[in-house]
Amino acid sequence: MPSPILVVAEEREGKLNKVSFELLGAARRLAEGSSGGVMAALLGSGLEALAPALGHYGASRVYLVDSPALAQYSPEAYAQALVGLVQKIKPEVIFLSATSRGRDLAPRLGAKLGVVVASDCTDFTLQDSGRLLITRPIFAGKALAQVRLKGTPQIATLRPNIFPPLSPETSRTAAIEKITVEGATARAVTKEVKKAAAGKKDVAEAEIIVSGGRGMKGPENYHLLEELAEALGGAVGASRAAVDAGWRPHSDQVGQTGKTVTPKLYVACGISGAIQHLAGMKTAKYIVAINKDPEAPIFKIADYGIVGDLFEIVPLITAEAKKLKSYQ
Ligand SMILES: Cc1cc2nc3c(=O)[nH]c(=O)nc-3n(C[C@H](O)[C@H](O)[C@H](O)COP(=O)(O)OP(=O)(O)OC[C@H]3O[C@@H](n4cnc5c(N)ncnc54)[C@H](O)[C@@H]3O)c2cc1C
Repeated sequence: MPSPILVVAEEREGKLNKVSFELLGAARRLAEGSSGGVMAALLGSGLEALAPALGHYGASRVYLVDSPALAQYSPEAYAQALVGLVQKIKPEVIFLSATSRGRDLAPRLGAKLGVVVASDCTDFTLQDSGRLLITRPIFAGKALAQVRLKGTPQIATLRPNIFPPLSPETSRTAAIEKITVEGATARAVTKEVKKAAAGKKDVAEAEIIVSGGRGMKGPENYHLLEELAEALGGAVGASRAAVDAGWRPHSDQVGQTGKTVTPKLYVACGISGAIQHLAGMKTAKYIVAINKDPEAPIFKIADYGIVGDLFEIVPLITAEAKKLKSYQ
């Protein structure tokens, strides 16, 4: 077992991201049965109250890197702080999340430490040599590459919603160590963070996504998807065609140049299934496609396909979902 394994937890607006717990689940799987060896780093300012939860989800030690300089995420300051921590605890493996923050931070950390990074990993196995064999999709998901990393630490970003977290146990506790690191300052200062509309779920984190493409015909029709998403407790996504047309914000775009999502359910409405779209959603657990063209490529990867007019079908599904909800 490579030890120790360091997980870089992510905090947003005073809460730990679900993916932090998934990283811990993956690290625990790697640490196999051992009670030690999984460390978590929590960077920010005033995050003390969040640290115990990382223990409940499998960290045996939490390094709280708390500094006013880390209050706002900055790749420069965060990478510098992490380098300080890594030099202190010398982990063999570091897991970050393949979220926008993890994708930003991991290469910078790798460059500072002089090691390569495997990004967007969907699986790994431990080889007899103690090195990881990592699986990651390449060519927009058309192929899976298996890679071995040279050097130590082995750094990987893990795709959200793939690795199951442990069920939390309050009896599982972590030693919490507050550490200060030198030089965690940034030349660029974040002045303002613009939030998405209140209550709007981020597609990258949603377990259910109802997505619409060019087949929606215009922005005025997306209320149909919003109603279905609300009935199912999910978020609304979009294809690039819909985003390029200005119907939906770029933050909703799923695909190669948008977000990579792995929800439990992905409902594609009026989306043809171009390779660049599939690159962002083909690892969803269940895919439902609604398209009036029976030859649409999306049907090749859909678990359930409905050939028909989405303007008739979506309201019917919404009505059924609402009925089911009212029985619960
Ligand atoms: C470098 C690069 C990066 C890209 N990145 C992305 C990306 O990140 N994400 C992305 O999505 N795309 C991306 N694209 C674009 C991609 O190639 C496609 O052009 C895009 O995904 C098409 O979007 P769409 O499926 O909504 O539209 P279309 O391909 O036009 O499909 C619309 C579908 O709606 C169906 N339809 C029409 N009316 C109805 C109706 N009433 N009921 C039911 N079905 C109906 C049609 O049958 C059709 O299948 C990228 C392209 C390039 C070159």
